[in-house]
Amino acid sequence: MSSTLLKNFIHGRYVSHNDNTCFDVINPATGEIIYAVEAASEALLEQSLLSAQQGFIKWSKTPAIERARILQRAAAILRERNDELARVEVLDTGKPWQEAAVVDVQTGADAIEYFANLCPSMMGEQQSVGDDFFYTRHEPLGVCFGIGAWNYPLQIACWKAAAALAAGNSMIFKPSEETPRGATLLAEILIEAGVPAGVFNVVHGDGKVGNYMVEHPAIAKVSLTGEVGTGKKVMAAAAGTLKKVTMELGGKSPLIVFDDADIDEAVTGAMIGNFYTQGEVCTNGTRVFVHQDCYDAFLERLLERSKNNVIVGNPLDPKTNLGALISSSHMHKVLDYIQLGKDQGATLAFGGERIKPLGCENGFFVGPTIFTDCTDDMRITREEIFGPVMSVLKFATEDEVIQRANNSDFGLAAGVFCKDIRRAHRVIAQLEAGICWINAYGNSPVEMPVGGYKQSGIGRENGIEAFRSYTQTKSIYVGMNKLEGPF
Ligand code: NDP
Repeated sequence: MSSTLLKNFIHGRYVSHNDNTCFDVINPATGEIIYAVEAASEALLEQSLLSAQQGFIKWSKTPAIERARILQRAAAILRERNDELARVEVLDTGKPWQEAAVVDVQTGADAIEYFANLCPSMMGEQQSVGDDFFYTRHEPLGVCFGIGAWNYPLQIACWKAAAALAAGNSMIFKPSEETPRGATLLAEILIEAGVPAGVFNVVHGDGKVGNYMVEHPAIAKVSLTGEVGTGKKVMAAAAGTLKKVTMELGGKSPLIVFDDADIDEAVTGAMIGNFYTQGEVCTNGTRVFVHQDCYDAFLERLLERSKNNVIVGNPLDPKTNLGALISSSHMHKVLDYIQLGKDQGATLAFGGERIKPLGCENGFFVGPTIFTDCTDDMRITREEIFGPVMSVLKFATEDEVIQRANNSDFGLAAGVFCKDIRRAHRVIAQLEAGICWINAYGNSPVEMPVGGYKQSGIGRENGIEAFRSYTQTKSIYVGMNKLEGPF
């Protein structure tokens, strides 16, 4: 890979179109341009489609056990190259090294390994109907299109590729313009592991590139990770050809702390659910509902730990645990929300400012921010901010908090901290959210299906459900007696 110019990766190699349509990628921690990327032209997109169709023919005929072996090799290479890949993610996203080194590459490799192990054991069914019988085949869909967000670039590419490829599909992937390297390096690794050329291509560009592919009749399915607004556009574009869609979208998730909770643990959950990856996590529990009887104790501990334990700094420094936001414009969006919170009457209990760490003065850092005296109708408690901004809300009764937690168009995640196990399960059962945690927050092992209720998404990633979503069922009826008819 060129260190200064990243090209599209098609049919097992980097491809150039020489028409000079490039865009820059900026290191969010320094504000410096770190490399340029060639955007895919229409001709190149067509080339990627042709290649993916060829790749599909070969890959879908490859025995599942062989597909599994190849994908397992890819997972092993990802793990071997962990530090190099994690560094790429840190430079592209601004997230702390201490996270990327243990999460981003590893969870990507986990997904490839999990789906690789699953694919040889996915069987069809057979059933007798009188003398006749039928059987089912779970067949791949064809060429799928993955669209990635910028917060977990390599992990998102791995999650989508893992399920799609294990099921025998080929995939063309468009990473976010802001973080295009992770997916491209994955494409290299898949080739090195033995995946045939064309089975995983990467095309670069903005929403227009994405839209071209979403509308294209040669694409069988689209899987998007992005904002709700983008999801609506992508779904509308996919409707023209009635494509299958998986949508992993945004959220404004509730995290509920009951009065019997272990306060320190609940504070840990709230801090993970708001400050991990500097708040740029779709499942963040940004509406922290705290029971009135433990509110003061919770807040005291939260403020103390936010003040003493959060280290904002150069993301490559292993001590840093809160990095830079993805871009200058995103940082200003987050700062605007903080101003809005103050204007609408919330109390800024902590943080709320841009930070310029030593050596990273031009980076896009916002310190951990905590609002109290929030109400349910404030924009900071209704809209996804996607930065380290927590809103703390007080509640009195179980029924009240369930109703308030569900009062959102989003429905991605939810968390409950309490020791009463009956209450924990009773409350979770009533929450309108696809991913829920009890006395935990944020962990998402590949075995567990993840996805949103309401406007937070359609379909699921990970788990067996995701594998199925990359297949279509064919039923084959077999007549065992001479066919009689009325004609
Ligand atoms: P965006 O929705 O802005 O972008 C997501 C991707 O879609 C990018 O690659 C973008 O291209 C592309 N895109 C934009 N417009 C179109 C279009 N019309 N057709 C096809 N593709 C298009 O999201 P962000 O990148 O800003 O990521 C943050 C969002 O992602 C948050 O809302 C977050 O909650 C959500 N998210 C959801 C997750 C989940 O699993 N539910 C996980 C992670 C994030 P480009 O930006 O390059 O122009």
